[in-house]
Amino acid sequence: MTITGRLEGRYALITGASRGIGRAIAVRFAREGATVAINFSGSHDAAKETLRQAQETTGGSGKLHMIVQADVGDEHAIARMFDEVLSAWGHLDILVNNAGIQSEAESHVYPVDEYRRILDIDLTGPLICSQVAIRHYLSRPGGGTILNCSSVHEIVPKPGFIAYSISKGGLRNLTRTLALEYADRGIRVNAVAPGAIATDINAAWKDDQEARANVESHIPMGRAGTPEEMAAVFAFLASDDASYVTGQTLYACGGLTLFGEFKENWSS
Ligand code: NAP
Repeated sequence: MTITGRLEGRYALITGASRGIGRAIAVRFAREGATVAINFSGSHDAAKETLRQAQETTGGSGKLHMIVQADVGDEHAIARMFDEVLSAWGHLDILVNNAGIQSEAESHVYPVDEYRRILDIDLTGPLICSQVAIRHYLSRPGGGTILNCSSVHEIVPKPGFIAYSISKGGLRNLTRTLALEYADRGIRVNAVAPGAIATDINAAWKDDQEARANVESHIPMGRAGTPEEMAAVFAFLASDDASYVTGQTLYACGGLTLFGEFKENWSS
């Protein structure tokens, strides 16, 4: 497939880019001409592999791709991450808030400490990263863009995953509020909402034939999505092809948000 250089000359920081969707975004952005900063929290070797793939796709262009460690649930670590990236490059054009985790327990016994941990990483981290990015965007001409990795669960409830559901619901209004607040100052803010994608977060089914078939039976398109399919949507929203798009969530979910149960009429 030919990929155009829609992101040539842009500098992008992608959180949680050591694995899964974040890795695919980093590699896709590099292929489209961006210089990428690959954030990770614990998976150093995996982040190095993302860096290798980004460098490979860029060939001998001399682009200053980098990896940067930070737990996005820790505001001090976020500040250090931006210091590191901005001192290496001097500027930033694209922030992707992709890092995210989830955990399961019935809501009436969901531990409050765990709830706070998930919210710190999945919702407060994106807010703090966005604040730093916006201050940078406002400090120079040209603005910039922010992309959030949301989920179909920003509108579809996810019983047993109360903290994740709340964080993705919050991410929807984080996206919309920032988009409105900064729309006239050259800053676009959008989100991508993946459905069921075969990554480590779905270890429960991605490599188990029977469990995966069960998951896929609920998806109108009949299959899980790939990280690369998500990355393509992020690349569109990051590029000038989406120059008049802000405050939107683009659902990349194989039709999961189309109320599949209504495919055959049962209600009247
Ligand atoms: P994944 O394969 O488990 O990857 C998660 C990534 O997040 C890893 O790179 C991990 O890095 C990073 N991460 C986790 N905690 C972090 C922290 N505290 N600070 C910085 N980075 C951290 O999951 P994924 O499917 O790619 O998920 C990426 C995003 O997509 C998440 O926001 C998730 O909610 C969203 N999403 C996924 C699906 C799906 O079906 N896969 C569906 C909807 C939405 P380390 O290993 O270094 O910790």
